[in-house]
Amino acid sequence: MTRRYDPRRALPHLSYTREQLAGTFKVTLTTIWSWTKKGLHPIDRKRPYLFAGGDVRKFLQAHNKPRQPTGPGQIYCVACKQVTQPAGKVVDFIALSPTNGDLVGRCPNCSRRIFQRVRTADIATKAGSLTVRYEGDVATINTDAEPSRTEPLNEGGV
Ligand SMILES: [Zn+2]
Repeated sequence: MTRRYDPRRALPHLSYTREQLAGTFKVTLTTIWSWTKKGLHPIDRKRPYLFAGGDVRKFLQAHNKPRQPTGPGQIYCVACKQVTQPAGKVVDFIALSPTNGDLVGRCPNCSRRIFQRVRTADIATKAGSLTVRYEGDVATINTDAEPSRTEPLNEGGV
């Protein structure tokens, strides 16, 4: 699936017509049709087809990707269960090793910390149009530059 749908929108004690499902999940009837092709079965063969809320829920839980793929400048918010763009379009890069680290920002919806693990070499790609701050310093991304720290990170000992 290209989008993520919240399975909880389907209430287990209700049944839904295709139109109602489309309205519930804000998708087109074509999408509902594609769900039936992927294994969402109506309760029976009588028209109008009715889909059990519990079946819809199970179907979406099984077919939703656990995480949405994130595009440049996007980070997944675990709390909101959706991909978002960090508040202020600013992230901090927290180095975890010479080759990777976390891009850390704030979710604009819930204000929680959101982060994405990235390889250092991929920072520019992942950050997209975001401003990346390196441990307090405001820095512009230079994709040509190898990470060349002359001093070891001073993190107060281990
Ligand atoms: Zn959030």
